Amino acid sequence: MTRTVLMNAGPWLPVPPDGYGGIENVLAALVPKLRRLGIRVLLATVASSTQPADGRLTPFQDGQFEVLQRPYNQVSGVAHAHLQAVVRALRDRDDIDLVHDHVEVVGLAVLSAAALAPTAPPVLHTLHWDLRKHADFYAGLDAGPRVRVNGVSESQLLRAPRALRRHSVGHVHLATPLAEGAAQRPPADKAGHAVVMGRITPGKGQHLAARLAHKGGFDLVIAGPVGPYRHPAELAAAGGAAAANPDVRYWEDEVRPLVDGTRVRWIGTVTSRERNKLVASARVSLFPLQWEEPGGTAVVETLALGTPAVGLSRGCLPELVEHGRTGWLAKSPDDLEALVHAAGQIDPRECRDQAARKFTPTVMAARYAELYEQVIAAGGSAVGRPDPGGAADPPDGEGALPAACP
Ligand code: UDP
Repeated sequence: MTRTVLMNAGPWLPVPPDGYGGIENVLAALVPKLRRLGIRVLLATVASSTQPADGRLTPFQDGQFEVLQRPYNQVSGVAHAHLQAVVRALRDRDDIDLVHDHVEVVGLAVLSAAALAPTAPPVLHTLHWDLRKHADFYAGLDAGPRVRVNGVSESQLLRAPRALRRHSVGHVHLATPLAEGAAQRPPADKAGHAVVMGRITPGKGQHLAARLAHKGGFDLVIAGPVGPYRHPAELAAAGGAAAANPDVRYWEDEVRPLVDGTRVRWIGTVTSRERNKLVASARVSLFPLQWEEPGGTAVVETLALGTPAVGLSRGCLPELVEHGRTGWLAKSPDDLEALVHAAGQIDPRECRDQAARKFTPTVMAARYAELYEQVIAAGGSAVGRPDPGGAADPPDGEGALPAACP
């Protein structure tokens, strides 16, 4: 049977993104593979997206990411305006079998309400973020019988409040198109540098990477935006207004003093082509995480590009990186320096082989196609059942997984 899925990418960035964009990169990998499996995809995104689909809903012309810097009362209508168009499509069309949603909080809240209508299609909402950010919302979640969630790692769901876990159908690891055929790709020449790829924000630990580079005597390239500022010149042009952004304050206070332009450089946001070259030629990708990284697109990308990951053993990292085979994981930042120097012991072929086995869009799409059928068929029968984890919410959100988790 041909299924039609409304894929709700949200209003923030185009699909694929032009540079930074974790969720949008994953959707750019997922959509073509689902279509190859015979699933029709109606993509709710911004009009500037170039991702081919079987139909599009585009309430906004361009990505609204920069609007996120404004005060709450100026921002809060954006995701709702986008969701309003999604709900209208659900009301006016009768060919949508399932909504696959990726919009933080607003997607789950609005679609749970919409799913109360008896004719509404079921919803699978993918949790791409740190669940503790929205603890109150998740702890009280009662999304009804036709709404399910999935995580992007096992560790993320283990930390989920119990009410959210009751809606869970398990986790699906993120994927990258770079993993497709990675095992056959010829090895890249390695330069001497290490790289940190991603948003410059305390959780990603760029300050630790920079300290490490100075102490360990290796070159470090930091790539990624600071808040909405994609490049050093944009940040400089924003002047004092930028200081309201917490990531800008982190950059100014903790990272920038360590960026000397030679040993440690910030090159701003890189496009995917630039990223691939920078990461493939690096001796190591650093992940000195200061948070429980939920999914780690940049982690699966580095493995696909044949560059070992070295980082702190938290969040999804131990699920994605095999210690001693595709990288090195440490408990403490003090242990990272030796591991950077040991990165040469990791065989880049093993990184690419594992990525090709585990992190391809083909693997991810097959898993989502299964979950779509499960969500459509189950009609939400798990909601209201006792939590298989049994225990009440522990104070820090740690808990057991529902039996459905793979
Ligand atoms: N990225 C990029 N250019 C940059 C910085 C990041 O293309 O300058 C991409 C990166 O390769 C990854 C995504 O943005 O695909 C970030 O996703 P990740 O899951 O690693 O981080 P998060 O979603 O937490 O920001």
